[in-house]
Amino acid sequence: MRLEVINTGTELLLGNTLNTHLAFLGESLLPLGLRIARQLTIPDGAIIGEAILETIGRADIVIVTGGLGPTSDDITRDLIAALLGLPLDLDPAVEAAIKDRLAHHQREMSPATRRQAMVPAGATVLKNAFGTAPGLYLPPLPVPSPPHSLSPHLILLPGPPRELRPMVRDEVLPLLRSLCQGRTAIREMRNFRLANLGETQVAATLEPSLLSLGDVELGYCARAGEVIVRLLGTPAQLAAAETIVSAAFPAHYFSSSEHPLEFTVVDLLARLGQTITTAESCTGGFLAHRLTNVPGASAVFPQGLITYANQAKSDLLGVPQILLDQHGAVSPEVCAAMAQGALRAAHTDHALAVTGIAGPSGGSPAKPVGTVFIGLASQAHPEPLVERFLFPVERETFKQLAAQSALDLLRRRLIRMV
Ligand code: AMP
Ligand code: MG
Repeated sequence: MRLEVINTGTELLLGNTLNTHLAFLGESLLPLGLRIARQLTIPDGAIIGEAILETIGRADIVIVTGGLGPTSDDITRDLIAALLGLPLDLDPAVEAAIKDRLAHHQREMSPATRRQAMVPAGATVLKNAFGTAPGLYLPPLPVPSPPHSLSPHLILLPGPPRELRPMVRDEVLPLLRSLCQGRTAIREMRNFRLANLGETQVAATLEPSLLSLGDVELGYCARAGEVIVRLLGTPAQLAAAETIVSAAFPAHYFSSSEHPLEFTVVDLLARLGQTITTAESCTGGFLAHRLTNVPGASAVFPQGLITYANQAKSDLLGVPQILLDQHGAVSPEVCAAMAQGALRAAHTDHALAVTGIAGPSGGSPAKPVGTVFIGLASQAHPEPLVERFLFPVERETFKQLAAQSALDLLRRRLIRMV
């Protein structure tokens, strides 16, 4: 079954609204064995007719999003009915549902709102539990011009994400499941996540063995401090792939879940019954932010400090002034003292310290912009481990890379303890 998506909405092309429907649909359809073969974004207006005509003979199913609402630019329903030569009839059940919804908000039905109860002949109404515009399903129908051709299965969905998403889940996926029965091969997707490795190195090492698994689809995605190996295949192929990935990179492979590195770190700490604190300079709290993105982080992360100025490093972490004077705030000595100071202040099992030069100014030949020191002190290893990195990138990516390296330093210590 070949499926295509048409996203309508001038705002999508003006850059006001990000097309999140496409990602949501792609993700939702995969478990049915359905893939988006092609996608088109078009402005509001008559072009929708042209776009549907192009899919005839090429697509089996077309999902159209947007343009079902009450405003003058919402003309998807009318244009598709006109294209297929279908009369629009008022659907009393839809009208009653809209009236109910409006009454709940103490509003009356306007003629513009009533338009949303107009249903093309032969269409099935897809209930909208979160808005007034219902979705519509049209089975393949003859197209008057050019003659002798059948339209694809057409599924029209409302634009607002809070309406579209539940409708896809509750109405569209069951419908597609019945349309596809036995006609698509179910494949699962798994993302194998590897910390702090280069994409080319990962690909070169893994590709021959992963491709030897047979009919699998392989892709890579490089993120800050992380490579994701994406594999589509049968459950047995995915299980074999996991063995291959973890054997090839035992120290770097950390998860096959959808979650980033902080989830692995919090999980490891929770399993060990241990805690972490942070002393951050150049990451400005980003490391603490990532840790606290994980539900349940409070059990393992009681506190963190942002010590940006030298004064804060000495006042809050007890970094000796002489170290700051002799070596500078961005130095292995100060980083080690920050980690030790944080461990003392928070009484946790581990402390991570980050100090570096985010730039664009402040670099020197010995410590160029992008230099970062990351320190880890633990109750079991009071002598801090300090690693030096160079991330000569803009400030935001710099913070991501520094936080990722810090989390990974801790992860590598924790996996030896579980
Ligand atoms: P519409 O019913 O087409 O006027 O859409 C209503 C609202 O839904 C728009 O103003 C957008 O904010 C949102 N919307 C429409 N299409 C998309 C899309 N592809 N992705 C995310 N939001 C969308
Ligand atoms: Mg619109």
